[in-house]
Amino acid sequence: MKKILIGTHNKGKFKEIAHLVSRKYKKISPLSLNIKSPKETGKSFIANSKLKVQFFSKFVNYPVLSDDSGICIKALNNKPGIYSARLAKKYGSFYNAMKFILKKLKNKKDRTATFVCSLSYKTNNQKIVTVQGKLKGKISSSIKGKNGFGYDPIFIPSNKKITFGQMSKVKKIKMDHRFLAFQKLKKKIKTL
Ligand code: IMP
Repeated sequence: MKKILIGTHNKGKFKEIAHLVSRKYKKISPLSLNIKSPKETGKSFIANSKLKVQFFSKFVNYPVLSDDSGICIKALNNKPGIYSARLAKKYGSFYNAMKFILKKLKNKKDRTATFVCSLSYKTNNQKIVTVQGKLKGKISSSIKGKNGFGYDPIFIPSNKKITFGQMSKVKKIKMDHRFLAFQKLKKKIKTL
């Protein structure tokens, strides 16, 4: 069976990406190979996903798919953005980071937010292929739902009334920023 390394240590992302990639591939996690994650020194989602795919490719001789993603909140100057994971680390948990965001947005009229995902793919000596997917929505008034991961319980996608945290896993996976990015990637890498 063909192998593909899903270059992320985030279990929520791993599951989502593994679900999107064809059943023909055996999905390998860097955790199972004892590979640590690189420092995210890039200044954009694209730069970080490229940096990750470049890093993980050094360890295997089969394709690697890496993701860099996060939530951009308009009223917070598009923060936390690429610092989404680091915000949760700073406050000790995603729950605390979501509480912090809700407090910051308390008197703001504009609760617009965008989930962004950059995916990078690399195999053998080929060039890196990078795409980006974006999904608009808004920040809910409180933390709602137990499904998904990360900031899912405070994000309501446009045209929906419930948060990703309240949505079934299958529904979320088929509409989120990662799915949108993956559709673009599949047009370029047909075997995925
Ligand atoms: P990084 O790409 O490893 O820097 O992490 C991005 C962070 O954004 C993660 O820790 C996630 O919690 C958050 N994030 C990215 N995609 C999603 C999503 O689909 N739902 C909820 N949170 C997400």
